[in-house]
Amino acid sequence: MSSGQETPLVGKPLPSQLSPTCPGHGLAGVSESGSPQAQSRHLTAQMQSSLQPLCLSLETLHRVKGRMLEAMERGLSRRTHSQATVRMLPAFIRSTPDGTERGKFLVLELGDTHLRVLLMELSGDTDQRVTMEDQHFPVPDAITQGPGEKLFAFLATCLWEFLDELHMPQTDLELGFSFPFACRQTRLDQSYLISWSKGFRCPGVEGRDVVALLQEAIDKQDRYRIKVIAVVNDTTGTMMSCDASAGPCEVGLVVDAGTNSCFMAEARHVEVVEESEGRMGVVTEWGSFGDNGALNDVLSPYDHQLDQASLNPGKQRYEKMIGGLYLGEIVRHILTELFSGRTAPARLTEGSFQTQDILEISDEQVGLATARRVLRALGLEASDQDCFNTQQVCSAVCIRAAGLCAAGLAAILSHMCRSRELSRLKTSVAVDGAVVRAHAKFRQTLQQLVKQLAPECDVTLVQAEGSSKGIGMVTAVASRLAAQRRRVDRTLALLQLSHDALGTVQALLRQEMELGLKKETHASSSVRMLPTYICATPDGSERGDFLALDLGGTNFRVLLVKLFDHIVECIADFQTKQGMMGQTLPLGFTFSFPCQQTSLDQGILLSWTKGFNASGCVGQDVVKLLREAVKRKNHFALDVVAIVNDTVGTMMSCGYDDPSCEVGLIVGTGTNACYMEELRNVGALAGEEGRMCINMEWGAFGDNGCLDAFFTPFDRQVDEASLNPGRQRFEKLISGMYLGEIVRRILLELTAKGCLFRGRPSPKLQTPDIFQTKFLSSIESDGLALRQVCAILEELGLHVSCEDSVLVREVCQVVARRAAQLCGAAVAAVVEKIRENRGLEQLAVTVGVDGTLYKLHPHFAQQVQATVQQLAPRCSVTFLQSEDGSGKGAALIAAVACRVARHQRA
Ligand code: ADP
Ligand code: MG
Repeated sequence: MSSGQETPLVGKPLPSQLSPTCPGHGLAGVSESGSPQAQSRHLTAQMQSSLQPLCLSLETLHRVKGRMLEAMERGLSRRTHSQATVRMLPAFIRSTPDGTERGKFLVLELGDTHLRVLLMELSGDTDQRVTMEDQHFPVPDAITQGPGEKLFAFLATCLWEFLDELHMPQTDLELGFSFPFACRQTRLDQSYLISWSKGFRCPGVEGRDVVALLQEAIDKQDRYRIKVIAVVNDTTGTMMSCDASAGPCEVGLVVDAGTNSCFMAEARHVEVVEESEGRMGVVTEWGSFGDNGALNDVLSPYDHQLDQASLNPGKQRYEKMIGGLYLGEIVRHILTELFSGRTAPARLTEGSFQTQDILEISDEQVGLATARRVLRALGLEASDQDCFNTQQVCSAVCIRAAGLCAAGLAAILSHMCRSRELSRLKTSVAVDGAVVRAHAKFRQTLQQLVKQLAPECDVTLVQAEGSSKGIGMVTAVASRLAAQRRRVDRTLALLQLSHDALGTVQALLRQEMELGLKKETHASSSVRMLPTYICATPDGSERGDFLALDLGGTNFRVLLVKLFDHIVECIADFQTKQGMMGQTLPLGFTFSFPCQQTSLDQGILLSWTKGFNASGCVGQDVVKLLREAVKRKNHFALDVVAIVNDTVGTMMSCGYDDPSCEVGLIVGTGTNACYMEELRNVGALAGEEGRMCINMEWGAFGDNGCLDAFFTPFDRQVDEASLNPGRQRFEKLISGMYLGEIVRRILLELTAKGCLFRGRPSPKLQTPDIFQTKFLSSIESDGLALRQVCAILEELGLHVSCEDSVLVREVCQVVARRAAQLCGAAVAAVVEKIRENRGLEQLAVTVGVDGTLYKLHPHFAQQVQATVQQLAPRCSVTFLQSEDGSGKGAALIAAVACRVARHQRA
């Protein structure tokens, strides 16, 4: 883009291209509309050339926005933060008001000459009512120059005098502290003074945490129980002062003597803080934008003159074009040039134009009169043209300031929109400071240009309600978050298992395994430890075609009555499709429910689990039921040679690739495991030599009460609402069928406690099973932006705020982690038993795994493995995921059975 083609906003002489946002143009517009006063005047050629350097086109402002974006990103990045010109300081504000904040809060606002103490009360109901009482205390010189200790004692004394006056009862109060000096803030309630300014010089404070100093002073007085919970910057106070009812206000903009801004950034982009969840208020400190030369091509000669004469040359270049402290000086430099050759310049001394005058002069209605008054007061003989010119200059300076400010604001908004992965961003911007407050045109220009510079954002500028209220709100929000956090922590603590607790689970399972294996104690154990009649793993010599059928927990759920007829239909269909009709193939049947086996091709169903409840099956031999169903279907033959538990199928199919695979693990709809046990340990069977695969049926672990201490109220609710209350208690802590429900129950509880959905119960959340376990996987996916978490929850019909989605994700994490750790503790018990059985110092063993939860959840597998490593350090355990393992394993077992049968015949 070459500058020659650009369309200037300011000072463009061609009336046909006038823009309403431009001062020259705006006034020209007035003259065109027939203001008789203005018609007689015009922009002289000299004026045009004097104002030309202030002329910024929309394209230029776009460029400034782009550079501001880059500068902001450098400020946010850990690597470049310390050298960045735009500092992007974290303010440790994690949320904006949501209207539920309630209670009384104290604010201590330390100003240049006064201390303001304020008590704010929030009603916290539907229309958040705010009442405030305040008192001002002059700060004597003896305090501003005296030792730090005196200053803080003074603050504490003012506090209790104020509270005494109000006859406040001795309740606990929380306080927000506005401390307007350069600080290094490290927490919401921790901020180290870097250096004093504004006439304060109290020795012994620099380098120290001002919150701790204030807290000490308050505690020393011992009059009221007050806790300092927030130290606040005035820019964030501006952002937080806005009413939550109109929608979120996540940007604050101050244009006062100086300028600054803040916004709610995505915490993961604020690399200098540990937090990665949710949002974090960031104070941009954008006044120093351009100090590295980024604004060189927009600086005018007047800016250079001003900068050279300033106390801090080369610094705060952006602020020096926008802040009220400087606007008057820029105007003075331009007028000095305009009036050169006349007696005037000598009278135009530094400070002769006040911000207030500049703002008033640029006013279309009263501006000319003010110009005349101001020029006269400076002793200048001002003609009508002089007054008109002065007004033009003031407008140009103010409008340029608004334009530059708009470019910065647009950068913030585009950054927010992009980092939240939104196609449109809707937010309010709280504005405050003398310049925006006094100058309607500044606000209008700002609003219009922001629209043009960040067209993807719907922005409403809102006049802030004073920073004291905002500081009170920061305190109230911090208090709400802390209270919510305590409630959340208390709720989730029930689901957090220590290393010792997991060790206990491991030991308990080990004990139950021993009981389950022994004939005498078998009945008292909650794990059945069923023999499977599988004594060998595949040796690789198996050949031929075999059929396999896998009845898991999810896919056949609808078939309650004609279960086995349906299964036969499925096989017939499959054979027809494969062109195998008429052939009688040996079939291995994976049946993932507890069966008492007495041989490979016989299995008495002990109970249904995982939501199955077909009648007439429990106590029956399921192979016989299947064979009868085959007979009912004409022209169809099947040779069922093996019934196989899915855990066993999985172990066998993995064993085909890895001979040390001696454990099978399932974590899908339900959970279970099998492993190779020494025959001598299996009480139910004769024989001392060799091994047999034992189907543990560990899903029922705890059904005898041994895990009662680990069940939370949520687990009990899920159990009670299930088809099989009191049964499969371990499975109900771990597997896919239940995790979503546990999460839903916790979310209901957190809503009731006011920690979610602003405490309003969502009817959707009352629906059982709406929260499926697959959502846990998607919500926990690595690198998933909050926006996407929100989208997942929106799809479920849940309307969530950013904070809600952070909390939902945390609940999902806690529930899934507990499941994985319990599963890991159980695997540890199994591998340790194998190791001890064999009298080994070290065991290397492979666990074959199947089940969608294990395979698709982003962290489950890793957490299982980590737990096993912790709890069974003498076993080196490899986890091998099987492809369709449970089904293929059944075919393999059928093949092994056929091989063995052939050998026996031969
Ligand atoms: P089965 O248990 O019937 O053999 P699976 O092993 O495929 O079948 O497990 C199915 C279960 O896995 C579902 O009931 C569901 O609870 C869970 N599930 C499905 N998709 C996911 C996913 N993306 N992440 C975690 N769990 C899932
Ligand atoms: Mg399965």
